[in-house]
Amino acid sequence: MIYADNAATTKMSDGAAKVFVSLLDEAWGNPSSLYAHGQKAKEVLEQARQDVAGVIGASPREITFTSGGSEADNQAIRTGAALGRKKGKMHIVSTAFEHHAVLHTLEALKKEGFSVTLLDVHENGIVDPAEVEAAIREDTCLVTIMYANNEIGTIQPIREIGAICRKKEVLFHVDAVQAVGHIPVNVTDDCIDMLSASAHKFHGPKGVGFLYAKKGIRLTNLIEGGAQERGRRAGTENVPGIGAMAQALKEADAGMAENAARVVRMRDRLIAGLQEIPHCALNGDQERRLPGNVNFCFEGIEGESLLLLLDDKGICASSGSACTSGSLDPSHVLLAIGRIHDVAHGSLRLSLGEDITEEEVDYIIRTVKEVVAYLRSFSPVWRDLMAGKKEFIL
Ligand SMILES: *Cc1c(COP(=O)(O)O)cnc(C)c1O
Repeated sequence: MIYADNAATTKMSDGAAKVFVSLLDEAWGNPSSLYAHGQKAKEVLEQARQDVAGVIGASPREITFTSGGSEADNQAIRTGAALGRKKGKMHIVSTAFEHHAVLHTLEALKKEGFSVTLLDVHENGIVDPAEVEAAIREDTCLVTIMYANNEIGTIQPIREIGAICRKKEVLFHVDAVQAVGHIPVNVTDDCIDMLSASAHKFHGPKGVGFLYAKKGIRLTNLIEGGAQERGRRAGTENVPGIGAMAQALKEADAGMAENAARVVRMRDRLIAGLQEIPHCALNGDQERRLPGNVNFCFEGIEGESLLLLLDDKGICASSGSACTSGSLDPSHVLLAIGRIHDVAHGSLRLSLGEDITEEEVDYIIRTVKEVVAYLRSFSPVWRDLMAGKKEFIL
């Protein structure tokens, strides 16, 4: 099996799995208990906090552990909204191609009286910082923009946007779930006020992540209860998960430059191979994208059929976001970069891991070419296109 769906989730690294298992045995006490066994668990948490903070240029007190990226996104946006409401500022700026954890939270806030501006991400899938600046109003309380898109992998000009938000004194939240552990992220250099990350996207366990919030930002609680996480997130901590997350992030950080260089070579080989297929298009900017992300639209086919046939041939891929699979709506990300419905339906995302080989990439290219040709051979849409009854778009 070739696993090419690392944007959906990654396999835990051996190092992280080892830490996870050893903590089940060595640190199963409650970190809030006062006896030594509980304190041992507490030490694991504090060491992990220090490790995670170090990687993103934060200080440990600015890190709150959560159940993952979705929770961190919800908490950050609710925090920005609550702080804004206190000052009578109820406008939020975001983009049309955010993750649903962001978009659905914004939808909920709209029902509570907030207004939201969703910026265009253009054909290349990149937000223009000048448009962010122009969208900020007197009553803007929060700008929330992702670091890198989970479907098309495009990397946003976060540092420029951060500088604009700092100048305008507007809180800036970044969903960095796809970026952390893959490309350099530094909250200080990037002027980020709040940042979300998730362990299972960088070879840590599922169900654990963290929220960075700059010193002085009072977080709004999503979960009420005990005083864990200095009162910002109640519930007995996921000690093995948090320890394993820190291990995975340290490993990802240490190997980042080398891994990224290799994965970029594999990505570019895959892109070049797939571009030989007639009537296809790469989605998102070719250069400013995550090392492992490849996303194409093929005219005249259905993404779902493509995925099933690839699965038969031992390739795990996705048509976009795992969260929308099973729904018939085309990806909101592909619509946001201007793909029309018909074309957006024929999409394929291949997100490569660090261990992908050249032979595997070549097998993927061969197989996708075969499967696309096969599907087109009995596609009524393709027949109409070939007969000139419909115009090719790609
Ligand atoms: C995966 C993902 C999330 C959600 O993270 P979970 O830990 O699965 O809740 C949020 N944002 C982006 C960009 C993601 O890729």
